[in-house]
Amino acid sequence: MNPLVTPSFPSRLPKVGTTIFTVMSTLAAEHQAINLGQGFPDFPCDRKLIAEVNAAMLADRNQYAPMAGVAELRNGISKKIETLYGHHYDPDTEITITAGGTQAIFTAVLSCVSPGDEVIIIEPAFDCYRPAIDLAGGKTISISLQVVRNEAGQVAAYEIPWDLLANAINHKTRLVLINTPHNPTGMVWDKADLDRLAALVRNTSALILSDEVYEHMVYDGAKHHSVASHPELAARSFLVSSFGKTFHVTGWKVGYVAAPPSLTKEFRKVHQFNVFAVNTPMQYGLASYLSDEKQYLNLPAFYQAKRDVFRAGLNPTKFKLLPTPGSYFQCADYSALGIPQAKLNEADFCKWLTTEVGVAAIPVSAFYDQATESGVIRFCFAKQEQTLAHALQRLQTL
Ligand code: GLN
Repeated sequence: MNPLVTPSFPSRLPKVGTTIFTVMSTLAAEHQAINLGQGFPDFPCDRKLIAEVNAAMLADRNQYAPMAGVAELRNGISKKIETLYGHHYDPDTEITITAGGTQAIFTAVLSCVSPGDEVIIIEPAFDCYRPAIDLAGGKTISISLQVVRNEAGQVAAYEIPWDLLANAINHKTRLVLINTPHNPTGMVWDKADLDRLAALVRNTSALILSDEVYEHMVYDGAKHHSVASHPELAARSFLVSSFGKTFHVTGWKVGYVAAPPSLTKEFRKVHQFNVFAVNTPMQYGLASYLSDEKQYLNLPAFYQAKRDVFRAGLNPTKFKLLPTPGSYFQCADYSALGIPQAKLNEADFCKWLTTEVGVAAIPVSAFYDQATESGVIRFCFAKQEQTLAHALQRLQTL
């Protein structure tokens, strides 16, 4: 054996390649396309938030934070959840600060899924769910949102497949992953949906992982329905959220998990040997910024305005817009665009749109494990007015 050759080994994630977000952002950069693909704001965060983090650094808050997170931040989160959703999480035993939502999801899955356990996901689903389940040795049971079509055959909406969900839940179900507001479709769960889910898991030992990172992006006067607002679900749920989405700092990678003490205890066992503790000055900065509630209460109006501008701009085009009650994503059916584009699969359509029209988007098919083509793509509207205007100018040629 050549001692200079790296030994080979079986991949733990043989099917995983580069994420679609990286692929599309790279293609957008290569072609100077406007990037409405990967979900991140292209506008700056509040200078005040940066000043708070700076102040923490200058005050020498630069050593390890407590493993569970800085107390001031956990207290602030507890207060925010209680005010908005009416459930008290004890900051000491029920709230943990994480290095973003993805780490929170990964750690939650690893902390409760044992080899052979079944974990239910609802596709289209965010791309980090399945690899976490695979690494834990769990068995992913995926069911798909129901695609509702109009008379013209275009995708008009997505619906929760209650019958499939009811059939999928059994005594082997360890965890059900839900996501509201939903990436990529923008769907939101309402109170009746939470009630239905609660009824389905009532006599089982299934836990819930609720990805609510877009919690402050719910529009048209509607409320976000968190699992925290539902006592029965709260008692068996990991609730995940993220400051990156809420305060326009996706690159900071700070989020949190709120969960009952027995779940938090297991979560922290994994967290302390994976991350140990999240970056300290960011946590202090976020804690003082979070104390001003208008920083998140203003968010629905802020993003609704962007959604409305974007939708109005796409109206004259041949895209059929899906409803966007939440999230910062707009899905669109492109089947009326005419041949040959309308016949392209979603990934090829997105490539064509990026290279030929100069606007990058994400194929919804990337959120399914098995090839599922509906002719729908996702745009991110978390962009400055002028970016949206510029993108619309290009899209209006279609
Ligand atoms: N959440 C972001 C999106 O859906 C992407 C995050 C990432 O690139 N991993 O676009």
